[in-house]
Amino acid sequence: MVSTFLAGLLPDCQGELYVYANSRDVLDGCTGWNGGDAQDHVHPEDCWGLRRGRTYEFGEAEIGFRCGHVDDGTLSYVCFPLLAHGETIGLLHLRVRPGRDPASFRDSRRLGQLCAEQVSMAIANVRMRDELQDQSIRDALTGLFNRRHLLEALRRILSRASKTDRPVALLSIDIDHFKTFNDTFGHDAGDMVLRAVGEVLERSTDGDEVACRHGGEEFIVLLPDTDIPDALYRAETLRERIQGINLRYGDKSLPSVTASIGIALAPMDGTMPQDLMRAADDALYAAKAAGRNQAMLTSLVGIDKETLPSTAATSARSCSRAVPGEVAADRERP
Ligand code: GH3
Ligand code: MG
Ligand code: MG
Repeated sequence: MVSTFLAGLLPDCQGELYVYANSRDVLDGCTGWNGGDAQDHVHPEDCWGLRRGRTYEFGEAEIGFRCGHVDDGTLSYVCFPLLAHGETIGLLHLRVRPGRDPASFRDSRRLGQLCAEQVSMAIANVRMRDELQDQSIRDALTGLFNRRHLLEALRRILSRASKTDRPVALLSIDIDHFKTFNDTFGHDAGDMVLRAVGEVLERSTDGDEVACRHGGEEFIVLLPDTDIPDALYRAETLRERIQGINLRYGDKSLPSVTASIGIALAPMDGTMPQDLMRAADDALYAAKAAGRNQAMLTSLVGIDKETLPSTAATSARSCSRAVPGEVAADRERP
C-alpha cells in the first residue's frame, strides 16, 4: 500500500521504505516505488536521519554528509526516520526521480513528511495488532501455542487432510508425577521444567506441525501427513528428549522428568477434533496405567504389549522401550 500510494502522491520522487528487524541491529528493505529499489538491509549507523533521530536533508547546504546507504550519484535526498510510540521503527527515504525537476522535489518534501508520519502510525498499528494476535494464541509460560489456537489449527489440518486423504497424528503428552515434582522442588522449578519441555516440543516440530500447551503439564502435538510408524517414531523421540532434559535450579541439578504420550490418528480414530483428542487421551491414560514414561497408540489400548507376537508388538515395544541410539534403527521397523 505504501508503494502504491506514495508513487501517486509524490510523482516526482522515488523512494524506499525500511523497517527495523526484530533484532534491532539492522533495518530490512520492505518496498520501493517510482523506480526506487530497496536494499536488503540498511545499518542504522549508515543513516544520518536515524543517527540523529530526525529528518535529514542532503543536497541543500553547501557542505553535507552523505548517508552510507545512499549511492554517490544522488545529489539531493531526504531521510525521514519513522517514529511511533516514542520508538524509531523504520526509515522512509525519498530522492528526486530521474528526469524530474529538482525544484518540484523540493516542494514534495513537506508532503513527504506528512506521509512519513502516516506510514509510521500505520506500521505501529500493524505491529501492535500482530503482537496482540500473538499474545492471544500463545501460552505465556512456554511460548507454545495455546488451546485456542490448537482447536483452530486442528480443524484446519483435519479439513485439509480429508481432501488429500493423508493421515494426521495427534500426540497427547503429559508429564509424569508432576505434582510430586512441584511438591518436592517447588513451583518455580516446575515452571522451569515446563519451559524446557516447551522448548523441546518447539524444536522438534516444523513446517505445518503444531506444538501447544493444552493446559497445566499437558501438551499436544499435531503432525499432519504422519502415519502410524512415523507417529510412533516421533512420539518416542519426544519422550526421550523430554527425559534427556538436564536443568540446574540454583546450585542443585534437578532430576529428569518423564512423560507419557497417547497417540491418535485421523481418520482411523476420528475425523472430528473432539473425537481425536478423546482417543489420544484414552491412549494417554492407558500409557499411564501401563507404567508411565511410554507412548501408547489407540489401537494398542487394552492389549498387553508383551503378548503381541507380530510387528505391532515390535512397534509397541520399541515405542515403550527404545533406548537412545536405537531410535534411528527402530525408525524402519514399525
Ligand atoms: P500423572 O503422572 O498421573 O500425570 O501425575 P501428575 O502429578 O503429573 O498429575 P496431576 O494431574 O495430579 O498433577 C498435575 C500437576 O501439574 C499439578 C500442578 O501442581 C502441576 N501444574 C499444573 N500447571 C502448572 C504450572 O503452570 N506450573 C507448575 N509448576 N506446575 C503446574
Ligand atoms: Mg495431567
Ligand atoms: Mg501429569
